[in-house]
Amino acid sequence: MTSATAPTGPVPVELGQARGPSAKPPRHLADLDQAGRRAAVGELGQPGFRADQLSRHYFSRLTDDPAEMTDLPAGLRSELTAALLPPLLTAQRELECDGGTTRKTLWRAFDGALVESVLMRYPDRVTMCVSSQAGCGMACPFCATGQAGLTRNLSAAEIVTQVFAGARAMARGQVPGGPGRVSNVVFMGMGEPLANYARVLTAVRRITEPAPGGLGISQRAVTVSTVGLVPAIRRLTGEGLSVRLAVSLHAPDDELRDDLVPVNRRWKVAEVLEAAWGYAAATGRRVSIEYAMIRDINDQAWRADRLASLLAGQLAHVNLIPLNPTPGSKWTASDPQVAAEFLDRLAAHGVPVTVRDTRGTEIDGACGQLAATG
Ligand code: SAH
Repeated sequence: MTSATAPTGPVPVELGQARGPSAKPPRHLADLDQAGRRAAVGELGQPGFRADQLSRHYFSRLTDDPAEMTDLPAGLRSELTAALLPPLLTAQRELECDGGTTRKTLWRAFDGALVESVLMRYPDRVTMCVSSQAGCGMACPFCATGQAGLTRNLSAAEIVTQVFAGARAMARGQVPGGPGRVSNVVFMGMGEPLANYARVLTAVRRITEPAPGGLGISQRAVTVSTVGLVPAIRRLTGEGLSVRLAVSLHAPDDELRDDLVPVNRRWKVAEVLEAAWGYAAATGRRVSIEYAMIRDINDQAWRADRLASLLAGQLAHVNLIPLNPTPGSKWTASDPQVAAEFLDRLAAHGVPVTVRDTRGTEIDGACGQLAATG
């Protein structure tokens, strides 16, 4: 597997300036709240309402093209867009399947870091699966992203930009099915969102603030998925948001989870679930328990029973994900009959459970397959 930092082809050097690995992504409108935007245009000697104009272009009209900003003086457009709407991610490649309704985009950031996002159009909703980090430091052995390690955190605007791109493609009717909007956002792309807490929170705010402050997607339609960073789950609980929390559990027992989700050595199953129930209690929202079905590893009947006993009576919902193949992994998906029995056992204990309608396996765009290998 190639590293996420090593794009094939020349490493981009922008404006003849080499950038070290510690250089920060350029500041962007989507990093800033309304007051920050007004301050930023103030630095350019412009009145605050210019920030509102730019916000309307970006978040309401979904454009970052200065030529379309006809309410701004022509001489100012490029200066303002260069300062507040710098290009952050450049599409390197687009792969699609499901008749074009599932589309994976490989993005290159200003420093050459690569990330991927996936748009999935269903009859009743359009979901953007976004990355929060280039690479991931959590090292789960069945996940392709985890194999290359962490390159860096994405900025809030680098995250928002992925949703923006999907929203714009939908608005322009570029996704089969006619014009529409992005209704859901899941932080299930590359990276561990809660390990990039502040930027992810800013991104969540920008994604959910009504336009022109943000993209106006309902908080309830945003899912933050985590391996179970307990202090961060507790912190999220105090934010007063109503986003959905998903916990990637994958095993009900510490012995197995220590291997499947190595961060379990730090925060055990019981602690993770306790934090999750705290989130459910504070938000009234059912926590989604993610469970990849791995043949002969975590799919035994006794594990279904153990899982059911942990979840019984809690505000939880189990999402079973047939394991998606990843390069070099020795594991495969559970036998369908075994998976069906696992599901039946959970259901028999009264635990709400569904099997995830996995999309994008053909384009290595499904859960755990995002490796951004150029
Ligand atoms: N780091 C976060 C966000 C990634 S979400 C988290 O782990 O929750 C991606 C989801 O897909 C997680 O539930 C992850 O455990 C799961 N996943 C990873 N690799 C997978 C694979 N090969 N097959 C199916 N699901 C996988």
